[in-house]
Amino acid sequence: MNQLSQALQRIAASRTTAMTDRAFELRAAGRDVISLSVGEPDFPTPPHVVAAAKAALDAGDTKYTAVMGTAALRAAAALHFARDLGIVVAPEQIIVSAGGKQAIFLALAATLDPGDEVLIPSPWWVSYPQIVRYAGGEVIDLPTSAATGFRIGAGQLEAAITPRTRWLLLNSPGNPTGATYPAHELAALGEVLRRHPQVMVLSDDIYAPLRYTAGAHASLAAVCPDLADRTLTVSGVSKSHAMTGFRIGVSAGPAWLVAAMGKLQSHASGNPCSISQAAAVAAFTGPQEFLKEWCERFRARRDRVLSAIEAIPGLSAPVPDGAFYCMIDAAPLMARFGDDEALALHLLEHGVAVVAASAFGGRDGFRISFAADEAILDEALRRIAKAVV
Ligand code: GLU
Repeated sequence: MNQLSQALQRIAASRTTAMTDRAFELRAAGRDVISLSVGEPDFPTPPHVVAAAKAALDAGDTKYTAVMGTAALRAAAALHFARDLGIVVAPEQIIVSAGGKQAIFLALAATLDPGDEVLIPSPWWVSYPQIVRYAGGEVIDLPTSAATGFRIGAGQLEAAITPRTRWLLLNSPGNPTGATYPAHELAALGEVLRRHPQVMVLSDDIYAPLRYTAGAHASLAAVCPDLADRTLTVSGVSKSHAMTGFRIGVSAGPAWLVAAMGKLQSHASGNPCSISQAAAVAAFTGPQEFLKEWCERFRARRDRVLSAIEAIPGLSAPVPDGAFYCMIDAAPLMARFGDDEALALHLLEHGVAVVAASAFGGRDGFRISFAADEAILDEALRRIAKAVV
């Protein structure tokens, strides 16, 4: 008997993690598959972070912590928000969760009622619309294209807001397009938001340290401090410090909202892993210089991938300004393959796991992660070229 809730039936499983699981399975069965499907840095976790995790274990730091996160990590996260994002918050306005994904889930589940509208620029990260639907909200798609750098504008935002609009989800640098909002564009969005006090903003800044354009990162709550009391800024260590498996996200927002998220977390999972929290303290408070070198490597890989893509007939890709994904347009190949999911499966057969653009609310293409070793990227692109000739 199917006893699934209506909420569960409104959503589909994550297509990024599903494709990655499929690549794991195929590899376990002896197939030679390169996975460019999941977004995680291939660099090893920095040694000082690993040492902090080991020290935590040795010190017996293996018990419950406060549900909202340890005092040490909330203080370290406050330092991170001020230093890296320009957002000054007290530790009491911060919640630590099991990855940024859990924070987004908690925030939306804690605030949405049936019929509430959530504005999401597309292409979007796979989990945003699914979490909104699970929480009972209605997804309002704000489509973007390469022509606008995959960013929304003030007019588009104004036209989409209704009295039922509860949230705007912003992601800069964005997954899957790498779209990165400059401060003046955030200021223009802020002007619109000031006229609509019912709209909160979830600013997902998880890729902030991974940018390939000059200048400082711009985050909404820093650009428009008067909107900070209705902005939740989500960050973490997964992408910046190659700590995806540690599952630590940190979010800063109004005290009432983080307290509500904590209430839900107290029943859903309790505190995030104690060892991971100790490691995240080291990540935020330790040396950050390695990030410059990582960004240089990512930028070189991005350029390597883009030139290889341009050389493959039928494929093209805009230049991503941040994060480590290329959203590849394969429209000219659709007549041959049917749709982008069929193309992704075809590429999997040829030994490369990618994620179809439709998983992100896009179409006729696929996303690859270029957070992989140069030799692996070269081989993956050779396989892709061979698969589509
Ligand atoms: N955020 C990463 C991605 O888009 C990790 C997988 C996931 O949680 O979606 O690939």
